[in-house]
Amino acid sequence: MPSAVKRPNKTLLLDRDKCISCAGCVGTCPDLALDMFGVDLQVFQDKCTYCTICVRFCPVGALSIEKSKL
Ligand code: SF4
Ligand code: SF4
Repeated sequence: MPSAVKRPNKTLLLDRDKCISCAGCVGTCPDLALDMFGVDLQVFQDKCTYCTICVRFCPVGALSIEKSKL
């Protein structure tokens, strides 16, 4: 069944070319939607509320929120 609960038409995007794997953003997320596996940052879209805290934190601008045109 499609999730229609809190899914705004948004996606948290990670630019892996910019990410320096500092892991700093992981601790800023109040919803535990970020985690590091080795040097790979994982984004759990199902947990993300698109609060933008991590986007504003990231020192290299590797995170952004894409808004759907819908
Ligand atoms: S936008 Fe907010 S909820 Fe989503 S991963 Fe970043 S800090 Fe967590
Ligand atoms: S804060 Fe930015 S550079 Fe650091 S792990 Fe997160 S996305 Fe990567």
